[in-house]
Amino acid sequence: QIPSDSPTIRPINKGSVHRICAGQVILDLSSAVKELVENSLDAGATSVEIALRGYGKECFQVIDNGSGISPSNFKVLALKHHTSKLADFPDLQSLTTFGFRGEALSSLAALGSLTVETRTRNEPVATHLSYDHSGVLVAEKKTARQVGTTVTVKNLFSNLPVRSKEFSRNIRKEYGKLISLLNAYALIAKGVRLVCTNTTGKNVKSVVLKTQGSGSLKDNIVTLFGISIFNCLEPLSLRISDGCKVEGFLSKPGQGSGRNLGDRQFFFVNGRPVDMPKVTKLVNELYRGSNSQQHPIAIMNFTVPTGACDVNVTPDKRKVFFSDESSILQALREGLQQIYSSTNARYSVNKVE
Ligand code: ADP
Ligand code: MG
Repeated sequence: QIPSDSPTIRPINKGSVHRICAGQVILDLSSAVKELVENSLDAGATSVEIALRGYGKECFQVIDNGSGISPSNFKVLALKHHTSKLADFPDLQSLTTFGFRGEALSSLAALGSLTVETRTRNEPVATHLSYDHSGVLVAEKKTARQVGTTVTVKNLFSNLPVRSKEFSRNIRKEYGKLISLLNAYALIAKGVRLVCTNTTGKNVKSVVLKTQGSGSLKDNIVTLFGISIFNCLEPLSLRISDGCKVEGFLSKPGQGSGRNLGDRQFFFVNGRPVDMPKVTKLVNELYRGSNSQQHPIAIMNFTVPTGACDVNVTPDKRKVFFSDESSILQALREGLQQIYSSTNARYSVNKVE
């Protein structure tokens, strides 16, 4: 039935808007932790520790030795669209940081309980800061800490009932997704020591992932996956066009992984971990041509001019638009075909357990 009056259009109250939008930025545990790790890397940290409690459901903490946050920023730190990384839209063209929208901390404040401990080089002591759900600073006290920042989020999603239930139900899956994502950052973050620990109910703390802070992708692969996996990889270095190239490692034809498709496949654009479905499909398809029994391990970083790609596509920044995607795919296809045809002769296809 058509109503006689059209309903009144009115603004949604501010707190509700905030929670609605925050739920789109922070989708799950891994997107929450990812934002904090990216902030640490943006702050120039050479050590980033991710400490989970109860697989992240109870609490997660990211501890870094980066620049720290100046006292003049304490009040605005967790306010929506407040950032030190971008001021105007055109800045997006030359972006070199992971973050730029100033949404992560404000979203985390909205969806959990957010506290920050931080100290810059200019401060003799650190400050402990507590924020409410609208990102307003509600308590501040001095504390002891080295230069750097610790961000703690407790009870993520406690005020989004459906998501909270989902989180409890899928906790192992969420945790697995997070570890895979952290592997991506651990691989690509050169010169950064990355550690992830999880503490379970009985205060048992286990190290889940650890790199040494080496300057090379090779060392990070060896540390994370072991030398025998590394020995099954072929280095990859392809020029695509002016200012555009792809570098990394790829399974040798006969020496892929018997594990799931997508397991140990990592794609990066200018060092940012992203999803590249078309590239993934292409790599798997070409690999299948020479080895139908296994899946390739692929670790590929695309370097493109910052103005030629757009990462401001989805809230989690995992999707990228390229100004000339078809020529990237074409060059990659030709390059990979060449690698596989020249190495095929050298490596025979072995069936793996
Ligand atoms: P964005 O990363 O898009 O700027 P965030 O909400 O993630 O937005 O962070 C807001 C601001 O807080 C950042 O721009 C940065 O200035 C500061 N910040 C956040 N985390 C850290 C950190 N670990 N070290 C130093 N500064 C940080
Ligand atoms: Mg950020």
